[in-house]
Order: sequence, then C-alpha cells, then structure tokens
Amino acid sequence: MATVIIGAGAGGLAAAIALTAKGQEVKVLEAQPGPGGKLLPVRVGDTQFDSGPTVLTMRWVFEELFERAGDRLESHLKLVPLQTLARHYWSKGQTLDIFADPQQTIDAIGHFAGRAEAEGYRDFATDSKRIHKSLLTPFLKGQRPTPWSLAASMPLRDMLAINPFETYWHALGHYFKDPRLQQLFGRYATYCGSSPFKAPATLMLVADVEASGVWRVEGGMAALADALYNRARKSGVEFHFKCAAQRIEITASRVSAVIDQNGVRHACSSVIVNADSAAVATGLFGKDVQHACSRPTAKEQSLSAITLCAVTEDAGVPLEHHTVFFSDDYKTEFMELQKGPARDPTVYVCDQGRGRKLLLINAPANAQSPPADVEETMLRRLSTSGLKMIAKTMFRRSPQDFATLYPASSGALYGRASHGWLSTFQRPKARTKVPGLYLAGGSTHPGPGVPMAVLAGMRAAEALLQDRALMSPFRNTAIVGGISMP
Ligand SMILES: Cc1cc2nc3c(=O)[nH]c(=O)nc-3n(C[C@H](O)[C@H](O)[C@H](O)COP(=O)(O)OP(=O)(O)OC[C@H]3O[C@@H](n4cnc5c(N)ncnc54)[C@H](O)[C@@H]3O)c2cc1C
Repeated sequence: MATVIIGAGAGGLAAAIALTAKGQEVKVLEAQPGPGGKLLPVRVGDTQFDSGPTVLTMRWVFEELFERAGDRLESHLKLVPLQTLARHYWSKGQTLDIFADPQQTIDAIGHFAGRAEAEGYRDFATDSKRIHKSLLTPFLKGQRPTPWSLAASMPLRDMLAINPFETYWHALGHYFKDPRLQQLFGRYATYCGSSPFKAPATLMLVADVEASGVWRVEGGMAALADALYNRARKSGVEFHFKCAAQRIEITASRVSAVIDQNGVRHACSSVIVNADSAAVATGLFGKDVQHACSRPTAKEQSLSAITLCAVTEDAGVPLEHHTVFFSDDYKTEFMELQKGPARDPTVYVCDQGRGRKLLLINAPANAQSPPADVEETMLRRLSTSGLKMIAKTMFRRSPQDFATLYPASSGALYGRASHGWLSTFQRPKARTKVPGLYLAGGSTHPGPGVPMAVLAGMRAAEALLQDRALMSPFRNTAIVGGISMP
C-alpha cells in the first residue's frame, strides 16, 4: 500500500525519490500551491527572489539522491561554483573575503589581521576538517545515534576532537585573538539557528562544509526545488497541492490513512511527516499520534529571521553573492536576540542580480511584531559599513509569517537550537513511537539546512523500507526476532 508524505519540502521530496527508487507507491500532500517548502521563491509582481537558502552545499548529498533514482544531478541543474565564498564588512568599511581556495583565504586573513591570525585559521581549518570527517559516517550519513553509540563508533582521539563540551565561542578564542575573526567564524552557528555563545564547538565543522564547495544554482534555489519535484514526478510520485493534511488516522495501533483539509481519506500503510516535527507533537495531526515524538520548549527553539526581498539601488562598497555586514558587538547582539531583533543587527545580503537583494537578520522565534523601523535599522547597519542602499520594492517576512507558513514551528526555522552537547541527540529521529509513522526534514536528525533535510528524507525512506522488510505478508503483523507480533 502507498506511503503518504506530508509536505513537499526538500526532505519530503528526497524521501519520495528514495522510496520510488525502491519501487514504492508514494503520494505527497502539500499545503502550498507548489513544491519546495522553504526553497519556494517570493514573487513581487514579475520579480522573483530566493527568500530562504541561497546556495547549495554538500553537493554529494544531491548527487547520491539522484543516483538512487538512476539519474544524474547535472542533467537537471546547472551549478556554478563560488570562488569568493563570502564577503564581510565591519564598521568603517573594514573588509575580508573568504575564498574557495584555502591559500587565498590564508593570505587574505594574513593581510587583514596579521600572520598569527592566518596561522590560527590554518589550525581552525584543519580541526574543522577533522570534525567533519569524524562525523560524516556515524552522524551525518546514519540514523540518529545516541551519545554512547556515537562514542563507540569512533576512536577516542576523534571523540575528543569533536569537542562537544566546550562552547563554540570559547573554542574560537584558541584560534583567533581578533574579535572580527571570532565573529566571522562564530556566525556559522547561526546556519542552524543557534548562538555561537551556546552552541558546542563541534559546529566548527560548518567551516569545512563550506570549504568543500559552495555553488550558486542557475535559476535560483527554485530550480533545485523543481529538479527534485521533476525527478519525483518522473518516478511516478503523485502530488496534491493546496492540500493540507489534517489528521493521521490510526487503526489497530498503526498508521492507516491521512485525512486532508477537504475530508478526503488517503489510505496508506506508512506516513512520512516533512512538516515541522512540532506539528506532530503539538497534536496538529490528531491526538492519536501526538506522543510520536517530542518538541522543543520555547527556550530550546532555534532562531527565526526577518527577511526583506527588495529591488535596490546601491552606492558604496561592492557586494558578492554572499555579503555579511557585521554588528559592532556580537555578544550584545545575541543577548538582545533572546527578546527581539537586535538594535544593531548583523545583516546578511544576497545579491541576486538585476538589483534584486535578499536581506536577512536573525530574530527569535515566538517574537512579537518586528519594530516598525526594522528596515531602517537594517539599512543603517549597511550604511555604517559603507553601503548606501535605496530599497524600492520590498516584501518582508517576520517570525509570525514563518509561523503561519510552517505550522507549530512558532517561526523557528531550524527546529531545536543546537545549544549544549545533548541537543543534537534530542532532535527527533526518523522512526517514531507510532508504527508506520516517520519524520523527515530540517527539524529532525541530522539537522537543518537543505542538504541535511535531504539526508533526513533519505534516512526516513531507509527506516521505512527496513521496517517494511520486517513485516510479514500478513497485514499488521511484524516479524520481530523471528516471532510474529500482532
Ligand atoms: C530565511 C531562511 C534562510 C535559510 N538559509 C539557509 C541557508 O543559507 N542554507 C541552508 O542550507 N538552509 C537554509 N535555510 C533552511 C532550509 O531552507 C531548511 O532547513 C530546509 O529547506 C528545510 O526543508 P524541510 O525538508 O524541512 O521542509 P520545509 O522547507 O520546512 O517544508 C515543509 C513543507 O511542509 C508543508 N506542510 C506543513 N504542514 C503541512 C500540512 N499539514 N499538510 C501538507 N503540507 C504541510 C509546508 O507547506 C512545506 O512546504 C533557510 C531557511 C529560511 C526560511
């Protein structure tokens, strides 16, 4: 019988592709009019903006997914490698670029902050690579481990190297004395909606993920959503858009159907929820499945954001595809972020050509309406760093908008924040407590971000297939350790 996937975000599409590659029948119910979830572009008149993620990393994840379907990623997408990974500005026009070529980065840091800092970066990059390598197979490519199974899967020296008990910010102090470099590399914690002051040092692996390659997608990130969607459709996946799932039906303790917003019953033997896992845990899909997984408390939620899609005229310092304008005081910024947007926020700008920009600042989930002058505050930060920006068309999204788009998330864009060493092991895993119900997406293991959501989708498909293989040909009967269980 079919599997129903709730949500056509990256994780849902990946699960659909991985399941159909194994001959499974799959139906996707998506509340929005099109596929992609957070990859969906914003359209203002005829102008289209990437309004969420803006580049592709961990290319191997997407290649592996397409290979499973007997296809090639390159047949669907044109990827352009970025030579300058990101440009950074501080007040008074101080600037530093980070490059794809590691030697170029070392030289740039040496020029910007001196030889000792360049040496610090060399050590940082080496340690970041080591952490990335150690966690690749047991964590990123595997089902969610426990702290003990993870420790057992790697040599003690690798376990010590991943450094889970020290905060990221503290660890940065071992490599860099220049606060600007601490700020630049500390910002990687925000890639999973976390504070560098609370996240474990393990998160420095993000530096190696970026150093391993960053690609701009021709046609924008919508082209990635289309590529995943087209691949899934070619494999026979049935899509229903503007079709929110309302209830997951349980019969004899196992998933038996999904009821959609129109009251239509979609009979199935398994369900993969790609919506935020908090939607299950808060009972949005019914009381029968509420206990399937846990959800973070308000304090444990990751960051949200305030985004502006704007067509702008600019004068002053030049932009790259990724440009970051740093606040003067990162510590104060993250202190203030516990209550609302910071008064002097770090602003990320993505230059999408033809005057189109995405501007983004961090904001807490569950936030009140943003202050009326939030756009001015963002433009003031740019101007302090040397960029005069006049924004013409503007489309704003705030934590409340994200909370509406992604039900039960409270606007937290990355599920549970990675704060403290235990948090990663508290993310929901693919298998839930309810037989036949699985989770896949950025709020589940291995974590947020597009490639990670794709990995989550692949893990959910694998867990489902394993469980199905254990089922006897008789419905509702599982073979456990050779004994038939009702
Ligand atoms: C502003 C912003 C910036 C980001 N920046 C980056 C970045 O730079 N790099 C990066 O890698 N990642 C970034 N991310 C995160 C990344 O976009 C996400 O982690 C990833 O896309 C999540 O994919 P997902 O599979 O969890 O599904 P989502 O994209 O969350 O999609 C879930 C889908 O489920 C649907 N749904 C929900 N409830 C129901 C229901 N009841 N019935 C049917 N459908 C339902 C939703 O409509 C949605 O389409 C960013 C996100 C945002 C918003």
